[in-house]
Amino acid sequence: MLDFKNRFNIMETLQEVKTSVYKFGNKIADGNSTMKNLLGGKGANLAEMSAIGIPVPPGFTITTEVCTEYNLLGKEVVIDMIKEEVEAAIENIENIMGTIYGDNDNPLLISVRSGARVSMPGMMDTVLNLGLNDEVVVGIANKTKNERFAWDSYRRFIQMYGGVVLGMKPESKEDIDPFEEIMEALKHKRNIELDTEFTVQDLKDLVYDFKDAVKKRTGHDFPTDPWDQLWGAVMAVFNSWNGDRAIYYRNMNGYPSDWGTAVNVQAMVYGNMGENSGTGVCFTRDAGTGENVFNGEYLIDAQGEDVVAGVRTPQQITKLGSKRWAELAKIEEVDRAENYPSLEELMPSIYSELNEYQDKLEKHYRDMQDMEFTIQEGKLWILQTRNGKRTGAAMVKIAIDALKEGLISEKEALLHIEPNKLDELLHPIFDPEALKAVHVIAQGLPASPGAATGQIVFFADEANKYKNTILTRIETSPEDLEGMNLSNGILTARGGMTSHAAVVARGMGKCCISGAGALKIDYKNRTLNVDGKEYHEGDWISLNGSTGNIIEGKVATIEPELSGEFAKIMDLSDKYATMKVRTNADTPKDAKVARNFGAQGIGLTRTEHMFFEVDRIKAMREMILADTVKGRERALAQLLPMQRTDFEGIFEAMQGLPVTIRLLDPPLHEFVPHQLATQKELAEEMHISLEAVKIKIAELQEFNPMLGHRGCRLGNTYPEITEMQTRAIIEAALNLKDKGIEAKPEIMVPLIGTLSEFVEQENIIRATANKVFKERNDTIKYLVGTMIEIPRAALTADLIAQRAEFFSFGTNDLTQMAFGYSRDDAGKFLPIYIEKGILSVDPFEVLDQEGVGQLVKMGTEKGRSIKPNLKVGICGEHGGEPSSVEFCYNTGMNYVSCSPFRVPIARIASAQAAIKEVI
Ligand code: ADP
Ligand code: MG
Ligand code: MG
Repeated sequence: MLDFKNRFNIMETLQEVKTSVYKFGNKIADGNSTMKNLLGGKGANLAEMSAIGIPVPPGFTITTEVCTEYNLLGKEVVIDMIKEEVEAAIENIENIMGTIYGDNDNPLLISVRSGARVSMPGMMDTVLNLGLNDEVVVGIANKTKNERFAWDSYRRFIQMYGGVVLGMKPESKEDIDPFEEIMEALKHKRNIELDTEFTVQDLKDLVYDFKDAVKKRTGHDFPTDPWDQLWGAVMAVFNSWNGDRAIYYRNMNGYPSDWGTAVNVQAMVYGNMGENSGTGVCFTRDAGTGENVFNGEYLIDAQGEDVVAGVRTPQQITKLGSKRWAELAKIEEVDRAENYPSLEELMPSIYSELNEYQDKLEKHYRDMQDMEFTIQEGKLWILQTRNGKRTGAAMVKIAIDALKEGLISEKEALLHIEPNKLDELLHPIFDPEALKAVHVIAQGLPASPGAATGQIVFFADEANKYKNTILTRIETSPEDLEGMNLSNGILTARGGMTSHAAVVARGMGKCCISGAGALKIDYKNRTLNVDGKEYHEGDWISLNGSTGNIIEGKVATIEPELSGEFAKIMDLSDKYATMKVRTNADTPKDAKVARNFGAQGIGLTRTEHMFFEVDRIKAMREMILADTVKGRERALAQLLPMQRTDFEGIFEAMQGLPVTIRLLDPPLHEFVPHQLATQKELAEEMHISLEAVKIKIAELQEFNPMLGHRGCRLGNTYPEITEMQTRAIIEAALNLKDKGIEAKPEIMVPLIGTLSEFVEQENIIRATANKVFKERNDTIKYLVGTMIEIPRAALTADLIAQRAEFFSFGTNDLTQMAFGYSRDDAGKFLPIYIEKGILSVDPFEVLDQEGVGQLVKMGTEKGRSIKPNLKVGICGEHGGEPSSVEFCYNTGMNYVSCSPFRVPIARIASAQAAIKEVI
């Protein structure tokens, strides 16, 4: 806590050095569009628009810094601090508008609007029509000779101010808004439907009833002093930064809690002054498809949010848009032109002015704009502009179109791509039309995007019970891999974004929702229970992997189009990217998919995944359960040809490109059967007793399998495993060489902590390779390197680099061990840590640059101090996460490696990192 003296000192310093209020209006402005951190996005753009001659109502912005000070020092201190500046800024508006705030005869009314540095649509609060009271309303009515308008504004004001500032919200989720309730009652009494049908007397009655409701609920009179109203609204906007909605949105997007919001105070302009007035929203291009057509909606005689809120059906701005709309709505042209005319037809000169501004703003900001406007008695005002939100498809089309049109440069086009959004383009999607009418059962984590429809099955080995299945599990394990592959989608009740199900599904490019806590799965009865409703095996459900929505029944899907623009933007990325993108792939099929997406090699092949297929798991289990070296070798001999064939397939798919293969890594108990029936089967096959099988399996149990007998520790205790795998790799490469196909294997030793652990494995690998070369009387080039995934390996990377020919940072394990978080158990506390802000993001998703990143940097630098050209890459899940990719670039890595479906994302992120470095 700050003591009083300190607070005072802070106040003094702040007052001396900082401007808290930035004015705009009348074609001048104190701020500009580069000042988003200080003025918020809305404020910065209002200033910019004012300066370039767009008609914006005059006003001012109170900075985000004041919001932070408010959170620290409280209301009174902050008012004291900025009062003079605010009064001067109000006076400036008064001078421009020729009206006076709080004056009864010639009153100025204002709006108080939130605006953080990034747009958080609908997450924070805004109040319109401030300055009204029982006297001022009469002044407005007289001055405008429009009594109806004056009272309509007054009732809107009490409604908004009551809700936002005085907390007049519904009391429970069943209740409706208390003001809406009063309005509904009156509409009912008067037997009318629309707000516009209220008479002046109705509006007066509403004002009276609204104020009465406020008094009853809060115990206070509605504030009549315009300055009290102003300060109340300013503080409410500051408070909305810490409202539930804003916090949720922040956490979802990883925005820090200390940004704060700015407050924009602005002269009101009125769209509710009659037939010659209106309000609307428009986009310079289509935000859904990216098509370069100006579009939007408007309402006559309406204010503020009316268009978005859907009080009345809005009309289209352009004639083209209006015609398209009428076609969909099955409305005849005559009817359309008469009853739903476009703004272009209804107010041609306003339209052409608006058209001119949208063109000017898009050229000025060099990106698609989303604008708000209001027409007051035939005069057009622009109230907001921002870079419009858009779908992944629109994002790509707009970037390429804008490049072609000469609006932006190649580098800008690349920077306009939000890499993660490309994902939307790669998976089959639900038909947006079909989605409008679905029943959402529950929501989980959008672990792997895409759309999947199928019948519920609860067991991996039943994934082909129906033609289309959704594998529904409490959680998945490596044993389920084949079943996961066979199903259309995967749904789990437990586990996070890096759970087994999630990681594997993303690798497969398969839709997956994980951690849907509301699901009660009963394996025994084969039922799924959600909120009391029961679903059975065979019931149809659908998963929307992009939103995490679990939907009842079937939903139609459509194939995504990898349009010409997509290919163009990818080509462009290659022109600027210097760091390569490889893929994590365990099968020839994955390898092919990734190559089509532009992967320049494989950064990680997990050999163990090959062992899970039915006939292989048996040999694998025999190997594990064998008591003698002989017994193990016998089992390994069965596995050798299978592995060799797999490697041949992968090398062939990746011909000419490097392929990193990791030796066996996971704890062995993951491979042994835990069900009695399977244990019996195994005993019979191996001609040993069931008891012996059970004892052996019990022996494999470990307290901390993640830190147990795994990684190179396997190869160092059972060297025959390393021998077999090396042989399979080298023989596969030689076989391809015979066919004229070039294979470039890079053999990777997992989980080393010391140089000797590596050397021990390297010796076996080289000895085996030499043996094979001799047998075949031929050689190929190959590398032997290691994963850096144990902190000690990063710390001693200079020693390890004496022998290792490449490093690949395994940042999943490295994160696990640097934080001391078990990946398999983190689900219990990580979500709470993120909710409480103890961690701002999941470190298994976004590389922790501050901590884990230091190990990566140090490891790279130390390694290169011994071998300046040491090949360095990353193969954790982070290799496909844009901010982590940028970090890898800045660390000087040669490549990142990620799952096939993230390859395009990583390619763009790699190009962006290179472009940003130059800028
Ligand atoms: P949001 O950020 O949620 O869009 P805004 O601050 O933009 O909130 O305001 C809500 C609505 O009120 C918008 O439609 C906006 O155009 C309108 N509005 C805000 N200030 C004024 C004003 N001074 N005059 C007329 N309309 C306004
Ligand atoms: Mg807005
Ligand atoms: Mg590892």
